[in-house]
Amino acid sequence: MRRVLAAVLAALLLPLPARAAQTQRYVALTFDDGPSGKYTWALLDGLYDRGVHATFLLCGYRMVEYPDITQRILDEGHEIGCHGYSHKNMSQLSRRDIASELIDMEDLLPDGYRPRFLRPPGGCCSDPVRQVAEARKLAILGWSVDPRDWATQDAAAIEKLVIEQVRDGDVVLLHDMTESSVRASLHIVDALLEQDYEIITVSALAGKRGVSLKPGKVYSSFPPKE
Ligand SMILES: [Zn+2]
Repeated sequence: MRRVLAAVLAALLLPLPARAAQTQRYVALTFDDGPSGKYTWALLDGLYDRGVHATFLLCGYRMVEYPDITQRILDEGHEIGCHGYSHKNMSQLSRRDIASELIDMEDLLPDGYRPRFLRPPGGCCSDPVRQVAEARKLAILGWSVDPRDWATQDAAAIEKLVIEQVRDGDVVLLHDMTESSVRASLHIVDALLEQDYEIITVSALAGKRGVSLKPGKVYSSFPPKE
């Protein structure tokens, strides 16, 4: 009887230490191609309400149109990375033109803010892109989850795919350019928070994982160390 009791007690107590041992999980949400005069504002409102931070890979030609949104992104604690000035495929450009794409975008950022990441449009990378990024002290940011939100424009499908695929340390590729993407993104935030994920900027995620970013190197996720 005593042995049975001990077994029951052990079974009752088991979940507690197992739970306590679970370490914090992190995800970084990244938004390409903005700012959008129509949708970024709503996304920022939703992120603010939920107290989470994201990374925005901005295009210079759009920042010119919406400087107030660029400022708000920074004021609210989000991160900005470079997505080039004109959204050209950088792997087909000369070094000089790649450099112009980066410099012209960075010149539009508020004084004193230096991005840490370049995400080349379409993820199209090449040796010259890596070399120019290195010279400008930018790490290259890929992604590890891509729901192709810009193509499907189906909020439920975008949310389902991300929630099914996401793992600790992932970088999720999204775009704040359509209503469906913004709606899906906020649902994704709610679902991840429910699963006790912490949603943080890419730089913060790298920091949590003890990764010191190297200019010119490509990073697609920051999984926990084994
Ligand atoms: Zn893009």
